[in-house]
Amino acid sequence: MERTLTILKPDCVRKQLIGAVIDKIERAGFRVVAMKKTRLTQATAGEFYAVHRERPFYGELVEFMSSGPCVPMILEKENAVADFRTLIGATDPAQADEGTVRKLYADSKGENIVHGSDSAENAAVEAGFFFSAEEVV
Ligand code: ATP
Repeated sequence: MERTLTILKPDCVRKQLIGAVIDKIERAGFRVVAMKKTRLTQATAGEFYAVHRERPFYGELVEFMSSGPCVPMILEKENAVADFRTLIGATDPAQADEGTVRKLYADSKGENIVHGSDSAENAAVEAGFFFSAEEVV
């Protein structure tokens, strides 16, 4: 069974959409195997998104991701990585398909409600960023 890592981003928490998004996730067949509410510092957000360090939006992204609490989760399902990215839709909500999480709830490319890992390998690295082995059940 494949796993992916998601983060319900600070805009999701601020808009009180945690429950609505988890409802869509569970209805789509994902099992929540780990979950917590936490707040990234600028340093930890910068580390999490280090692959984007050279991108022009990096500063804005780090600022946003550390602007309030977020809810990271490990999700399990067959084909979890690809199916989760289908469920959330394109990075830019204006480009996202109807019915996707970002189309329904996101305001912009920057504030786009959720993160989803782009590969099973990165999912494992990202899961280790937030969760210890005892927290994964
Ligand atoms: P994520 O990694 O969060 O699942 P993604 O894979 O859809 O998103 P990436 O291109 O990896 O998109 O970008 C990572 C994150 O950086 C995006 O989710 C978004 O929050 C932010 N981002 C991407 N492009 C822009 C942009 N042009 N302006 C502002 N923020 C952006």
